[in-house]
Amino acid sequence: MIEVSHLTKRYGNNLAVSDLTFTIEKGQIYGFLGPNGAGKSTTMNIMTGCLAATSGYVKIDGYDIFEQPLEAKKRIGYLPELPPLYMDRTPREYLTFVARAKGIAKSAIASQIAHVMEVTQITDVADRLCKFLSKGYRQRVGIAQAILGDPEIIILDEPTVGLDPRQIIEIRNLIRKLGEEHTVLLSSHILSEVQAVCDTILIISKGKLIACDSAENLEKRFSEASHIDLTAEANEEETRSILASVEGLPQITLSSTDEGQTKASFDVSSDVCDEICRNIFKAFAASGKVLLQLAPKTASLEEIFIELTSGKTNQETAAEEIEATGEDAAETVQEEINDKKEGEE
Ligand code: ADP
Ligand code: MG
Repeated sequence: MIEVSHLTKRYGNNLAVSDLTFTIEKGQIYGFLGPNGAGKSTTMNIMTGCLAATSGYVKIDGYDIFEQPLEAKKRIGYLPELPPLYMDRTPREYLTFVARAKGIAKSAIASQIAHVMEVTQITDVADRLCKFLSKGYRQRVGIAQAILGDPEIIILDEPTVGLDPRQIIEIRNLIRKLGEEHTVLLSSHILSEVQAVCDTILIISKGKLIACDSAENLEKRFSEASHIDLTAEANEEETRSILASVEGLPQITLSSTDEGQTKASFDVSSDVCDEICRNIFKAFAASGKVLLQLAPKTASLEEIFIELTSGKTNQETAAEEIEATGEDAAETVQEEINDKKEGEE
C-alpha cells in the first residue's frame, strides 16, 4: 500500500531523516513513535508530497509521490502537525473549500461533508467560526478534512497533542473507527498512545527506523534478559538441590527468610524464560516442596522505548558522521549501523 524506500532528508548539515525504509500494508493502524525531533513530521510531510526528499522515494499504491502526485495524493488524507484551518471560516465553509480542492463532484459535496461531520462528530459546530472552536473540535475538523473524499490511507501527525484526557479518548475512538475501513498511520511521541490504538509500531529515533513490530513482539524482541524472583517453602539446601535439576539456570544466590522460606532472584535469557519457569514448577512439584511464588519479569515497552530512543540528537549524530573521516571512526559508524540492522532483523 505504501512503500518508503531509503528516504533521507537533510536540512543543511542536519540529518532529519536517515535512510528510512518500511512498508505499510492495507487495513492496519500503524503508529510512528519517536521523541520530539525524531523526524516523524518530516517523514510524513515527504510521504504526503508536501516536502521533497533529499534522496529515496515513496510510492502510494505503486504511484511515486513526486512523479505521479495526482494519482498518489488521491489515495491519502493528511492531517499535518498544525491543522490547516481558516479561523474566519466555519467548518462547513472550510470543508466545502477542501472538497472542491480535492475535486469531489459538485453534486456529492453536501452529502460527503454531512458524512465526515457525522463521523467526526462536529455537526453541532458546523456553522460556528473555527476561531471559536476548542482545540479538540479543531482537531476533529482537521481529521474531517483528511477523510473527505474517502481516501484509502489516512495519515495523522500527532492527532491528540494538546488535547485534554477526555478529548484524547474521543479522538482515539475515532481513529479506531477509521481503522476499520482505512489504512491509518499516526505519529506520537507518547508510547501509551500508539500502544492503545495501533496494530504495528514503527519506532523512529534520530531519523532512523529502529523497530517495526507489534507492541507484544517488540517487548519480546528487545528485552533480552528476564528477571525471575521465586520463593520456596524449603530451606536453602533443599532449594539449591531442586534448582540444580533445572537446566539453563545461572549461578543463583539464595536467601532465607525468618519464616523458614528461601528466596532466589536471577536473570535468564528472555527466549528461554517461559521454558525455565515451567521446569522450575515441575522440579518443585516432583520434590514435594511448595513453590510459593514464581515471578518472571521482562522489561516493559516503556523501558525499551526509553532505552532505544535515548541519547544523542540527530544533529549530534550527523555531526559525528560528518567528522568521521578517519578510518577508525568510519568503521565505528558502520559497526553501529550493522548492529542496528541486526537488531531490526
Ligand atoms: P518530529 O516530528 O519527530 O518531532 P521533525 O520531523 O519535526 O521531528 O524534525 C526532525 C529534525 O529536523 C529536527 O532535528 C528538527 O529540528 C529538524 N527540522 C525540521 N524541520 C526543519 C526545517 N524546516 N529546517 C531545518 N530543520 C528542520
Ligand atoms: Mg512532529
